[in-house]
Amino acid sequence: MLKKETILATAGRPPHGPVNVPVMRASTILFEDMDSYESTRDDRFEALRYGLHGTETHFALERVLTEFEGCHRAIIVPSGLAAATAVLLTLLSPGDHLLVADSVYGPVRSFIGTRLAAMGVTHTFFDPNLADGIEQLFQPNTKLVYCESPGSFTFEVQDIPAIVRQARRHGIKTVIDNTWASPLFFDAMVHGVDISIQAATKHISGHSDFLMGVIATTAPLWKPVRETVADLGFSVSADDCFLALRGLRTLSLRLRRQNETALKVAGWLRSHPAITEVLYPPLEGAPGHALWKRDFKGGCGLMGVVVKPDETRTVRTIINSLRLFRIGASWGGFESLALPGRFTRVTEPPCEQNHLLRLYTGLEDPDDLISDLANALGPTDAPTHSAEQRRS
Ligand SMILES: *Cc1c(COP(=O)(O)O)cnc(C)c1O
Repeated sequence: MLKKETILATAGRPPHGPVNVPVMRASTILFEDMDSYESTRDDRFEALRYGLHGTETHFALERVLTEFEGCHRAIIVPSGLAAATAVLLTLLSPGDHLLVADSVYGPVRSFIGTRLAAMGVTHTFFDPNLADGIEQLFQPNTKLVYCESPGSFTFEVQDIPAIVRQARRHGIKTVIDNTWASPLFFDAMVHGVDISIQAATKHISGHSDFLMGVIATTAPLWKPVRETVADLGFSVSADDCFLALRGLRTLSLRLRRQNETALKVAGWLRSHPAITEVLYPPLEGAPGHALWKRDFKGGCGLMGVVVKPDETRTVRTIINSLRLFRIGASWGGFESLALPGRFTRVTEPPCEQNHLLRLYTGLEDPDDLISDLANALGPTDAPTHSAEQRRS
């Protein structure tokens, strides 16, 4: 088995000719005669037949993603959210019940509460810190456990091996949103999930210039999910596939560097008197660190920072004072970003929503990012190392 890094550099390269697959833009594909046209009808997902189902550029990207994920086959869709909704629509029917991590990505939570509920699919949000015993939440009609680890905004690490073990015993499927770690740092397929999804919009793009989703499937689920994607009319442009292929080649360099930067920034923030806690599982002593250490090989640049607000300093004033961390939705590019925390919960959250700052560290120098934060956090009464001293 090749290592993920080698796969990213070698997968999908043609045996001869240009290193990179050219962009093949097409809706209509022309055929010489009816026999050859009809011969592609039964394998519209593998043969060049109609642009909606992909061209050589799309197929090349799907082959690289299949190797990277270590799955039966990967499917590309127009956004990370489309990956989640296509999977939910495939695996759930009216009358079914679904278990969802309470820290799930907001728009997925909303899809489950509105569209799926209207279809007659019921759901229960489970505590993402649940150590064991998800089994106790299974109902006779439970068909799926939907995880996202670490969770959006609050970064709880879920015990995926325990969840998979219990779900399998009851014939229940498991899905994970693996956007934060990517297969480089969390090998979802080796951990036994049935489907792993990623917003390729984030690390695979790496440059904040297109949207895409990846669905990595085990063998029995490839065809049903692929057909849902076709039925929904989801299609991705060949140009975006080219950018995704290009992004994949440098993904490990970017993520490893961002992991280092994030650790440095998170460590500095934790010792700052204006900060209560840093929600970054790779940081020693952070919530979820033990599980992260057991199951993950690294982390990306995205973290939660719990701030101690006072009269002059709120999450909002901090964000407005930052210069290198810019304000903007999404993450995964080379540029650092900041946003206020935003989440909905039925179980106990790790902090008050208005105390939470979400930071994403890009490829800037970590010392410059720390200076930016020091400036935005403003003067403090105590020297900046006091929190660390109290801790030790
Ligand atoms: C961004 C994100 C998505 C959605 O991706 P889009 O391409 O923006 O639709 C899904 N899950 C997680 C964890 C994300 O961070």
